[in-house]
Amino acid sequence: MALPNYAYFDGRIVPYSEAKVGVLTHALNYGTAAFGGVRGYWNSDEEQLFVFRPHDHVKRFLQSAKLLCMDLPYTEDDLVKGMFDLLRTEGHRADCYIRPLAFMGDEIIGVRLHNLHPSISIVSIPFGRYVEAEEGVHVTISSWRRVDDNSIPARGKIAGAYVNSAFIKTDAERAGFDEALVLNQDGHLSEGSAENLYIVRNGVVATPPVTDNILEGITRRTVFTLLRDELGFEVVERPIDRTEIYVADEAFFSGTGVQIAAITRVDHRPIGSGKMGPLVSDLRELYFNVVRGKAQKYRHWCAPVYETERELAKA
Ligand code: PMP
Repeated sequence: MALPNYAYFDGRIVPYSEAKVGVLTHALNYGTAAFGGVRGYWNSDEEQLFVFRPHDHVKRFLQSAKLLCMDLPYTEDDLVKGMFDLLRTEGHRADCYIRPLAFMGDEIIGVRLHNLHPSISIVSIPFGRYVEAEEGVHVTISSWRRVDDNSIPARGKIAGAYVNSAFIKTDAERAGFDEALVLNQDGHLSEGSAENLYIVRNGVVATPPVTDNILEGITRRTVFTLLRDELGFEVVERPIDRTEIYVADEAFFSGTGVQIAAITRVDHRPIGSGKMGPLVSDLRELYFNVVRGKAQKYRHWCAPVYETERELAKA
């Protein structure tokens, strides 16, 4: 992966090589950091880079930081502006991924959340697919369990909690799968290592509720709107048993990285026909139009990078 050229670092844009921390940094030692993951989509017809739902992403980023008791001296608008300044400086003319990070920057020994000083960085890199097999993902049910809200809250993107996702992903890939689904402590399906989960049964889409140790995905919210308002599906948030996915008509993942990906096999069992089904296919088509700024109705979710500050403030 090519490194970024620049970074937003504590309020300033600096060369990436200057955005450095020491090995004693608290977040590096104890996982006391929160991050975000945002996509920018290049629209070649308009020669424009659109960031998808930047304010919603920054809002969740600030909530994740709040879970870690971080007192950040930046508002949502400050961070969105910093992100766009960075993107203009990088000058991407291709799809990209944006990674905000708030981390306890103190170089000290002592595990805690209080009396520490958070720093902020944002970087962006050109980015294509996160999962190669978006049209047909083969997943396993992980032998790991999802972190619990009373251990490390999954609703925030807390760096330390992603060791749980790393266990899940590595074991799945080493066993020959593309991804894994992970169960809660109570045995219900929660999500993938970095994706929200949905199953389709009898024309109804079901997805685990936010009380089932999932990340409250921005794409999840987008999917709710598109399914209900454009494709006419009912979406219910409810606990999902492991074996419900075996008998589902379709299943899929959503996430900034994975976008919309069809789950077509679970532990060698075909889901529905074993091929991407009609709902996921329609949803993918719609989603890619929306994120690239090609659907007028949802244009407000797509913030243009190469425009004036005034237009940025409205996004
Ligand atoms: N769950 C987890 C664990 C994730 O890391 C992600 C990726 N951010 C998601 C779900 C999807 O969230 P979003 O749609 O906001 O990218």
